[in-house]
Amino acid sequence: MKAIELIGPGRVEVVEKDRPEPGEGEVLVRIKACAICTLERRLFTGEQAISYPIVFGHEVSGVVEKMGKGVLSDFQPGDPVVLDLLNRCGECLYCRTGRSNQCSNKFNPGLPILGGMAQFVARPAREVFAIDPEVGFLRASLTEPLSDCVHSLMRTHLSPEMKVLMIGAGTMGLLHLAIVKHYGMFCAVSDVNESKLAKASRFGADCVINAAKDDPVEAVQRAGFDAASIAIVTAPGKEAVEEAFRLIGTLGTIVLYSANPKGVKIELDPNFIHYKEITITGSEGRTEKDFHQAVSLQNSRGLMLEQLISGVFVLDEAQRALEVSLDPSLYRIIVAMDESAITEFETIGGA
Ligand SMILES: [Zn+2]
Ligand SMILES: [Zn+2]
Repeated sequence: MKAIELIGPGRVEVVEKDRPEPGEGEVLVRIKACAICTLERRLFTGEQAISYPIVFGHEVSGVVEKMGKGVLSDFQPGDPVVLDLLNRCGECLYCRTGRSNQCSNKFNPGLPILGGMAQFVARPAREVFAIDPEVGFLRASLTEPLSDCVHSLMRTHLSPEMKVLMIGAGTMGLLHLAIVKHYGMFCAVSDVNESKLAKASRFGADCVINAAKDDPVEAVQRAGFDAASIAIVTAPGKEAVEEAFRLIGTLGTIVLYSANPKGVKIELDPNFIHYKEITITGSEGRTEKDFHQAVSLQNSRGLMLEQLISGVFVLDEAQRALEVSLDPSLYRIIVAMDESAITEFETIGGA
């Protein structure tokens, strides 16, 4: 099979590898599409270290090719699936208490990591989720980032009357927006980039705020609310976090979704948190339950996720795909593992 190996900062190579065989309890998946996430971009630029060479990629859709012995799920060859490529030991405190996104052993040496940019991958059946064929392989490849947003929203006490403020209109901000609007809640989106805000409007935002030009407090008041019940910070930087603190209301929850460059510090007024009963939380990864819920959201087919796909490249153009994906004005770039995903892009359209 062909696979895309990261061989050093800024360089990937298409290599030939042995096709894996599914072991006991594993499913062999023929991969159709793998979207390029922030993690792959950081590994590609060298901003995040990893030992080379490595087959990276983790936002994956495909079809069941074959099952190993002992698979209990009712999979048939050809079934469309998405993969939750995350090691969970099942034995640590976090796994045992339903918080497997924090599994203490997920990065233990010797365990498989990533591996989505290949024509085949064999993984335990519990990481393989059947998905409605109507979703299509391109939109389906966005199930993993969608599940991270489900996890983030589940860190709050989401309720229909609440007003949500999304800071950042990149892929993760708009995936959060898609879920919030699916739940029928009010959602304002803030960014400093006009074209991203225009996209947020088309994607269903009730109000957009250009944080570089507008006074955010006045902007939300014009939109008919005084303060946010939930603020999700999907953009890095001190200013984004400070904006969340400015706009959060009594009993509100702030989710720090985005990672920040080292050294970013914020000043907090403990009395504001005390008197207003503000909750501040982070969000990291997803549990199996979050992934399952993301699949259900995808199957409901109301999310318009094709709007978050900026381009699709064939496997042999992987180097170019990675280079293009670094353009911050773009949404997801997807590597198609076979030609069918390219045809699909022409059918569903994209960003
Ligand atoms: Zn991802
Ligand atoms: Zn664990």
